[in-house]
Amino acid sequence: MIVTIIGVSLLAIWGLTCIRLFYKRARAKVIASGFVFRVRCEHCGTEYDVPVEEFLKSNAMKSRSKARTKLHGAVCDNSPVYSYAAKRFSCPGCQGKCWAQILNYNEYQKENRVAIIGYALLMAFGFYLGANILAAVMRLVERIAG
Ligand SMILES: [Zn+2]
Repeated sequence: MIVTIIGVSLLAIWGLTCIRLFYKRARAKVIASGFVFRVRCEHCGTEYDVPVEEFLKSNAMKSRSKARTKLHGAVCDNSPVYSYAAKRFSCPGCQGKCWAQILNYNEYQKENRVAIIGYALLMAFGFYLGANILAAVMRLVERIAG
């Protein structure tokens, strides 16, 4: 019983570690891309550029998307297409934190999707491998303890 509890806790910790690693790697990759967002202030209409580091600092986000299935040759792409995306940035026009519409959000999604999916698959595989090793160790411990 106690072995099962320890096993499940270790599995949860391992899962969280994988997710944290994935976010760190994906974030580093996105920052390295040096993407620049073109945004328009919803308050005063000023258009300005926001570097990706600044974009990731701001957490609040509004967006509307519709999943659109497109065929690229033999590849089926059902990634969402954003009809609207906005975040709060410090606007140079009204000198305050305002909601600003991101004009090239779909472009950003397209550029980073492949890299992020790659990392996600790697992390999923890492989790699967770790879980199997853990299960084997737990079985061994159970046999020795029992
Ligand atoms: Zn403004």
